[in-house]
Amino acid sequence: MIQHGPQLCTICKRDLWTDEAGRAVCRPCERRIDDHLRSLAGPGGLYARLCLRIHPGSGSSNGPTVSGTRGAPIPANLQVLNLTANGGLISALESWVEDWASYGLATVCAGGRLQHRVDWAVGTLRLNLPQACYRHPALEECAREIWSIRKQCEALIAGAKPARKVPVQCGSDGCGGILRVSIDTPGETCRACGREYGHAEVLQLTPVRAAA
Ligand SMILES: [Zn+2]
Ligand SMILES: [Zn+2]
Repeated sequence: MIQHGPQLCTICKRDLWTDEAGRAVCRPCERRIDDHLRSLAGPGGLYARLCLRIHPGSGSSNGPTVSGTRGAPIPANLQVLNLTANGGLISALESWVEDWASYGLATVCAGGRLQHRVDWAVGTLRLNLPQACYRHPALEECAREIWSIRKQCEALIAGAKPARKVPVQCGSDGCGGILRVSIDTPGETCRACGREYGHAEVLQLTPVRAAA
């Protein structure tokens, strides 16, 4: 039986307005996702700016370059490298593109340079986001990951160390799982039992004291 009660936004859990009927995600959440995606792409975007941190002056079009034969070696920040290399945030975005494409909500990129692939992924996701807000079944997880990518990029660009991670005890009965969480985590999954915690829930778990 179809429920006609008040529907909640699957991301922020607030009641959807009448004119948001049929949506899985409210308009403000859609705007936030779009904003996070937009921040990553283009010559002035977070991805390009991160690449510049690895090899200043190389421009963003060549993607990350770590070793140079001329001049003083630039200390490569391993975290920046991990995030900007093939397999980093590009792969995270592209796996969402593939996922969305399976619902007819995105077009997979034919390949090319890393910056092109980032721009493509962001472009096709943004183009289809309005539709995805109606019919993508797991937009919350996608939104969380995109937000997390943006936060990581911004933290690295600002030179800020990521917030300190604290071990906490999984709240499931009988699960001895330890999660490593930070104050700005959007959510965490227990690797032992697979239970998922949202931001607020994760902060309520009991910290584990280091063995004396
Ligand atoms: Zn919402
Ligand atoms: Zn657990």
